Amino acid sequence: MWFRADLRLHDHGALRSAVEAGPDGVVPLFVLDDHFPAENMPVRAAYLTRLLADFDERIEGLHLVRGRPEVEVPRVVEQAGASSVHVTAGHTPYALRRDARVGEALGDVPLVAADSPYAVAPGSVRKGDGSAYKVFTPWFRAWQSQGAHPPVTAVRSHAVPWVRPGGSVALPDVREADGVDLPAAGEQAARAHWRRWLDEHVDDYDSERDRPDLDTTSRMSVHLKWGTIHPRTLLADLAERSSAGARAYERQLAFREFYADVLHEWPGSAFGYYNRDYERMQYDEPAGDFEAWKEGRTGFPFIDAGMRQLLAQGWMHNRVRMAVASFLVKDLHLEWTHGARWFRERLVDADLANNQHGWQWVAGCGTDAAPYFRVFNPVGQGRRFDPDGAYIRRWVPELRGVEGRGVHEPWTLPDPPADYPPPLVDHAQERLETLRRHDALGG
Ligand code: FAD
Repeated sequence: MWFRADLRLHDHGALRSAVEAGPDGVVPLFVLDDHFPAENMPVRAAYLTRLLADFDERIEGLHLVRGRPEVEVPRVVEQAGASSVHVTAGHTPYALRRDARVGEALGDVPLVAADSPYAVAPGSVRKGDGSAYKVFTPWFRAWQSQGAHPPVTAVRSHAVPWVRPGGSVALPDVREADGVDLPAAGEQAARAHWRRWLDEHVDDYDSERDRPDLDTTSRMSVHLKWGTIHPRTLLADLAERSSAGARAYERQLAFREFYADVLHEWPGSAFGYYNRDYERMQYDEPAGDFEAWKEGRTGFPFIDAGMRQLLAQGWMHNRVRMAVASFLVKDLHLEWTHGARWFRERLVDADLANNQHGWQWVAGCGTDAAPYFRVFNPVGQGRRFDPDGAYIRRWVPELRGVEGRGVHEPWTLPDPPADYPPPLVDHAQERLETLRRHDALGG
């Protein structure tokens, strides 16, 4: 069993297939990349060290090797005399290339991808004529019509004849994450967190999900990204509840599945434009304003609160992700790819399909895109979704002393806090500039 982002025992189709195929022994293999920990992903690298430590303890010993998978996996297969290699299918362009190389290097030993990180494997929901959907709502209906996805029975670690062929490298030291306060890592943490959230918040999810000040969304993205829980488990629990909140949550989970499907069909949308018309848009080069955005010093409190939450927690509320992304693209006129790269570097839940398509949706060049001319107002978003300013005060200490709604526009106060920057841009003007550039595209 070659584990990747799926270090868990419950609801694990690939692990179950490995156990069934290997009644005499299963090697719990994990391959550390030569370059791990990569300096450009300090937050995720730190989180992975925790996941590895947790799972290693859970199963009393991962077999850990370091190097290129196409070299290391066949080596372990030979060493252990394994007859097959079992994995959860990967769906990013990198994972597809890697698995193709490993499959080839394995020769006659099959690489079995018996499961995916999704309730419905990407590429399975198709129109009657076999083509892919480009719009979420009809895709969602078709996805729903596939019916229930019962979880796979859990594997009990003590019942698995684990085999460690020797030569395992040491676990990487648990690392700190550049000042980020990371969430608890591992399957037990994920399951406990989910049960608690389900009991306390799911029924209000539909009415509260857009309110960063309430902070009651599930924060399951990190556990889904790292595969310490499978969405089938979540969907099975949700199916037992009849609230509007549970239905709204299923729909959000389906967005994750939809974006994976879009990536499967259009792999070029991972790093390029889904709607290529926008390649011709006039953009500015990142400079000091990009740095101010990254540091949460734009002078727009709702934007700065989000960017500082990202730095502090490696996570940001969805509503704020949309607002800060819109600010980067439509107030600073930078390409979405710059912001998406920063998010991938800092988010502990950074997921290629969700991140790149989330960014493209905001930038107007993705599937179901918000029309380009709909420009989020950075003050209006705060007033509407953080009405009392509690979210702003939590993340922007310079504004904690500001009472009332003035916290959304400190520059209008008679005595603005001296240590908080003035607005980086004039939003009304930049909005017009965005529309001008859009018109220049020629419709
Ligand atoms: P909840 O509101 O509790 O939602 C439950 C789950 O549904 C999430 O964990 C997630 O798996 C899924 N989900 C919810 N909203 C979306 C959405 N809009 N698109 C896709 N899936 C969704 N999500 C990531 O997992 N990784 C990313 O790298 C990522 N980057 C984003 C970048 C931008 C610019 C935008 C606008 C959105 C991005 N999202 C990303 C989607 C969304 O913001 C996060 O999934 C969500 O904020 C995670 O918090 P939560 O688990 O509390 O969400």
